[in-house]
This record gives sequence, structure tokens and C-alpha cells, in this order.
Amino acid sequence: MNFDKEFFSSIDTVIFDLGGVLVDLDKPRAIEAYRKLGFKDIDNFMSCHLQRGMFLQADSGLVSSAEFRNLVREHIGNPQIPDSAIDSAWTDILVGLPQYRLDTIKRLREKFRTLLLSNISEIDWDFCLEHYFSKDGYKTEDLFEKMFLSYRMKVVKPNPEIMEKLIADSGIDPNRTMFIDDAPANCRMAEAFGIRTYTPAPLEDWTGIFKDAF
Ligand SMILES: [Mg+2]
Repeated sequence: MNFDKEFFSSIDTVIFDLGGVLVDLDKPRAIEAYRKLGFKDIDNFMSCHLQRGMFLQADSGLVSSAEFRNLVREHIGNPQIPDSAIDSAWTDILVGLPQYRLDTIKRLREKFRTLLLSNISEIDWDFCLEHYFSKDGYKTEDLFEKMFLSYRMKVVKPNPEIMEKLIADSGIDPNRTMFIDDAPANCRMAEAFGIRTYTPAPLEDWTGIFKDAF
């Protein structure tokens, strides 16, 4: 796809994924942190773009954060592990949100409808709110018209139901929408709605594709 002036005059909405697009991820670091807590088969629960078991249940909002922590303690077989250790192992996956990405989205927000669509648990979202979205006076409302979070929507990408809900709720025109997500399966799902997509590589500075957007 050619992201030129003509392309940007044909869209009015940009949907952003969070993990792997806005926030850089280090999954091996989280896996190692869980292993240190005694979660020996963590590899079966965290893989490249997918969470499984209690992690998927938490992302899907099927269990509360408290229930998730109990499931982890049960699975490890150690009721003494504190909440904070379980939370911090998961948030170890989150590396940071570079300022230049925030600046780009803030500029885009002046010209386009900007939405967030993330597979995320309450534990990780609360961490992002505290550590990434409150610095330098930025608020999430400065960046996104609305945030669609899997744990609240009770459905995860790439289930098309999540996009159906987003479209119904926001009233966007899929044919005038662009979606940026680092998971190819999520992009294919969005394309089936007529949404045009971009799939950045890990740690990529994807802000360059917007040079003709302003
Ligand atoms: Mg992602």
C-alpha cells in the first residue's frame, strides 16, 4: 500500500493497536518473570501474539484481576505469592511508549478520528495508564476519541466480533479507516471489513508512514 496524500485523503479514521505498535513489548522478560515465580510451563500460556489459559481469560474479561491472580497461585501451587509479584511479572512485558509516537498520534488526532483497539487485561491497562499516558501532561483523551479494550468488551482480536462492536459503537466507515496492528491475523480480520491495514515489525518506527497525512 502506498501511504501518500491520496491515501490519506481517502481515510478519516485511524485505529491503533497498543502492544507492539504504541508500546514496545518484551515477552521473554515476562515469561522469565513468571518462571521465577514458579510458573514452570509458562511457555504454554504466553506465545508470540496470543495469550492462553488464565491470561486469555483476563484479556477477555472472563475473569477479574483478583480471579486471575488466584488462578496463577493455584496453577503454581503457592498461595503465598503476593498480588504485586503476579502483576509485575505480567507488566514486565511492557517496555515503554516512546514520546515520538505519542506526539504523532496527538497530531493525527487533529485531522482524523483516532481509536485504540487493544487485547489487554485490566492489570496491564492500569499499568499503561499510570506509567505511559500521564506523562508530559498527555491524557488518553488527547490521543484517542475512544478506547476499545478487550477486557471490557469481553472479546479479543482476531475474533471479528470485536471489530463489529467497534464499528457499531463508533459509527466509523470501514472503507475510510486504517488499522495499525503488529499481528498479521488481526490485520487480515480487519481487511475482511474493508479496512486498510499496516503491520509494523517489532520496534519499528512506523510514524514515517504518516508523513503525507498532515
Ligand atoms: Mg499488538
